[in-house]
Amino acid sequence: MKYYSLNHNSKSTLFQDAVIRGLASDRGLYFPEKIPKLPQSFFDNIENMSIPDIAYKIIKPYVGNQILKEKLMEIVSETLDFDFPIVEITDNIAALELFQGPTLAFKDVGARFMARSLAHLNKDKNENITVLVATSGDTGGAVANGFLGVKGVNVVILYPKGKVSEIQEKQLTTLGQNITALEVDGVFDDCQEMVKTAFLDNGLSSLNLTSANSINVARWLPQMFYYFIGYRSLKHKNKKLVFSVPSGNFGNVCAGIMGTQMGLPIDHFIASTNVNDAVPRYLETGAYHPKATIQTISNAMDVGNPSNFIRIQKIFNNDVVKMKKILSGYRYNDEETKKALKEIYDLNGYVADPHGAVGYLGLKEFLADQKQDFFGVFLETAHPVKFLDSVKKTLKLDVEIPERLKSTLSKEKVSIPIEDYSELKAYLLN
Ligand SMILES: *Cc1c(COP(=O)(O)O)cnc(C)c1O
Repeated sequence: MKYYSLNHNSKSTLFQDAVIRGLASDRGLYFPEKIPKLPQSFFDNIENMSIPDIAYKIIKPYVGNQILKEKLMEIVSETLDFDFPIVEITDNIAALELFQGPTLAFKDVGARFMARSLAHLNKDKNENITVLVATSGDTGGAVANGFLGVKGVNVVILYPKGKVSEIQEKQLTTLGQNITALEVDGVFDDCQEMVKTAFLDNGLSSLNLTSANSINVARWLPQMFYYFIGYRSLKHKNKKLVFSVPSGNFGNVCAGIMGTQMGLPIDHFIASTNVNDAVPRYLETGAYHPKATIQTISNAMDVGNPSNFIRIQKIFNNDVVKMKKILSGYRYNDEETKKALKEIYDLNGYVADPHGAVGYLGLKEFLADQKQDFFGVFLETAHPVKFLDSVKKTLKLDVEIPERLKSTLSKEKVSIPIEDYSELKAYLLN
């Protein structure tokens, strides 16, 4: 499989190079030259296959021969080494929990897959790689955890000061070793912009910079696994399926749509956002106007200009009419999100997190408009304990802190404050 740049101004390349570079030299995102189709027999037998077998078959064509079969199987097995439960909330609505991994966020799957792939692909090279990553909250922890102790890789995380939850901050500032956290005086989009600038900066070309945001194909593509896993659990319902995806940078929902291009029988997707709603507005008006980021209680979705939207546009060849047949978009403010947390709790005692609650709202609104009988899934992208403040205040309830988080919380934060790009560059060159 070759990958080309969506800016069409640099050479196509193979998986290894796309992963090590992160972003093409013309600053474009990489996209696979074709989207392979899985045979019907794969879907007919999916309930009899193990999760690693399913994941291997999905990802293999994208990796090509650049990671050998046994190694790739080992990577997906380690990556997916936890559960993905479906919790039914009503007769036709369920939550798919993607947060059972080590940092309690769905990003663990992409981060673990990428860390293992990159370590393997770089093992025979004598040069260190620097992974530069911007986080609105959850990416930092997942990437730090995934890459901790990986030889030959240094990880530098940029996060917006005061705009991530306490638990999120601890997860990305307490690990040490090859992980460094830079605390940026700004919002997420400032962090993301600095990362993109660093990639373009010829003065940093000696550093082998790469990205561990969902712009990197090794972070983005493994997110397809969730939708196949969800389908496998719900196939027996024999209903049309709709997945509502709480969206920020739009890597996750884009991966789901990629899955359907490979043949996965999911009928519809919903991009559910907070008030950072560039994509729902695009779906309404056909015009894409990113705006500055607004802070919300679902902070991992506080993205004004989502990077992966261009990949979604590519899948539909920039045709908004085609896109709307597969994708709907809805936005909700914090008040509505809190109400939804309560509503879900009142329905069956389920404690959602603010991102999942936004997903639930999008799903409910979509289902209310349908004449056909759908079964709907909203993705629970983070454990509610990661957003303890809003969940506790809204539900007037204590959420028990999982054992694996307690030791992280007791450690001391170590970060380096920076204000602008020149300070980032100075740090990297040091
Ligand atoms: C990152 C994140 C999202 C948004 O995912 P995208 O792929 O960036 O759209 C949603 N919820 C949580 C909890 C996240 O960490």
